[in-house]
Amino acid sequence: MTAAGTPPDPDLAIELRGISKSFGPVRANKDIALRVRRGTIHGIIGENGAGKSTLMSILYGFYKADAGEIMIGGKRTEIPDSQAAIDAGIGMVFQHFKLVENFTVLENVVLGAEEGRLLRPSLAKARKLLRQLADDYEMDVDPEAVIEDLGVGQQQRVEILKALYREADILILDEPTGVLTPAEADHLFRILRGLRDEGKTIILITHKLREVMEITDTVSVMRRGEMTATVQTADTSPEELAELMVGRKVLLRVDKAPARPGKAVLEVKNLRVTDVQGVERLKGIDLRIHAGEILGVAGVAGNGQSELLEVLGGYANGTGTIRLNDQTIDLTGTASDARTRRARGIAHVPEDRQREGLIMDYRAWENVGFGYHHDARFNSGIFMDNAALRADCAAKMERFDVRPPDPNLAAKNFSGGNQQKIVLAREIERNPDLLLIGQPTRGVDIGAIEFIHEQIVALRDQGKAILLVSVELDEIMALSDRIAVMFDGRIIGERLPSETDQGELGLLMAGMTGEAAA
Ligand code: ADP
Ligand code: MG
Repeated sequence: MTAAGTPPDPDLAIELRGISKSFGPVRANKDIALRVRRGTIHGIIGENGAGKSTLMSILYGFYKADAGEIMIGGKRTEIPDSQAAIDAGIGMVFQHFKLVENFTVLENVVLGAEEGRLLRPSLAKARKLLRQLADDYEMDVDPEAVIEDLGVGQQQRVEILKALYREADILILDEPTGVLTPAEADHLFRILRGLRDEGKTIILITHKLREVMEITDTVSVMRRGEMTATVQTADTSPEELAELMVGRKVLLRVDKAPARPGKAVLEVKNLRVTDVQGVERLKGIDLRIHAGEILGVAGVAGNGQSELLEVLGGYANGTGTIRLNDQTIDLTGTASDARTRRARGIAHVPEDRQREGLIMDYRAWENVGFGYHHDARFNSGIFMDNAALRADCAAKMERFDVRPPDPNLAAKNFSGGNQQKIVLAREIERNPDLLLIGQPTRGVDIGAIEFIHEQIVALRDQGKAILLVSVELDEIMALSDRIAVMFDGRIIGERLPSETDQGELGLLMAGMTGEAAA
């Protein structure tokens, strides 16, 4: 046991001493110390797998630490389960909300706190408290609304209300802005500041440096299961935090020369896609991308960006006109069209690489070989030349800095960032005229993001056309030569990065063009 000496500090909402936790051979938390001052917003940052969620799960009673102690408000506290965490005044807002879809807001807030015969009378009491909380924290959520009718931003507020209803003093939020529009994220931050100013303590887990700089008072950095630093936000910079997260200097800005667009490579007119339920997902898209140009498509997930990538890649049917290098592409065909599109010079890095980009149980070289089956280099008679495919894969892995560079390893055994590099290596080295790329750095660590961005810009500079779809506005702003914003199946605005900002793009993403008001 640790810390026989130091007395607990009652000014600390939370103090962790010597927390360790392993999953089999993986040491997710190694001898972690953390001190969170009462009435502050304390950020915890770190790359994927650094151990952030594990640490918070220990604090919330989901996991039991192998060693270490937890002090809440200066008192040593055992947290064997989440009821104990709630009793200790800790509330958690989950990354994937745990609300009951067909219950009302009110029922969800009360659920679990009051059961059985007590439920009905306490609903009335809860309704009153809820209105009060909603007014205090400008959380305008209708208590009678059914959860499934609410957007994600509102559902998240319900999670927060639920914690406050249980009288939480300490609120933990694990990557809360991943699903929000910029405007919703701003609203969340206003709520969190309000809660802090009333004396509540907030722990905010995120990998977004901009958010950390904007809202936290203090930041702790985790790397490979260890707590590597705790600094005052006012005394640090995004560059320093990135270096602490990765363990080396990282370029946060993409270095790129102005685009020199050539002829139009892709021309799309009145493109429409209707899904299997008969819902129109693309409602007449017009766009054009030139050689040597990156068109960034911004938008909140679910506004037709996925369908745009799929129909262009040949994975979905649609109507309208697509012209590639002045040749019309047939849109009436079937699923085998993806291969035809590849042959015509379209490469595709799909949004969901685990489902569409890779076969997880196949080895790296087999995955890298997809789509090259008709390539003469790898065909010796009727059999594929597996040795040649392996050697080709090894060379690609080398160039794309895939770690470990082992062609025989199954795709599932690489980290998210390295899986993405494998897909990128395969698609970029097809030497396509047009690269379709969806969420290129989702789930990817900062170090790999830097590399992936460099590769996308390098492809542009070779004169290729690139359609980039991303929900990360930072990424759209950094890479795009032009930005199109999608909302409800349409492109509702186009901007030059130099003539817009995240605020304006955020309004467009929420469907507000400003023209309606004028
Ligand atoms: P973060 O939230 O910082 O991305 P996590 O705490 O989720 O990191 O994960 C830390 C490490 O522990 C990772 O290597 C992860 O794969 C591993 N891990 C987390 N949860 C489990 C689990 N339930 N079983 C096995 N390994 C786990
Ligand atoms: Mg996590």
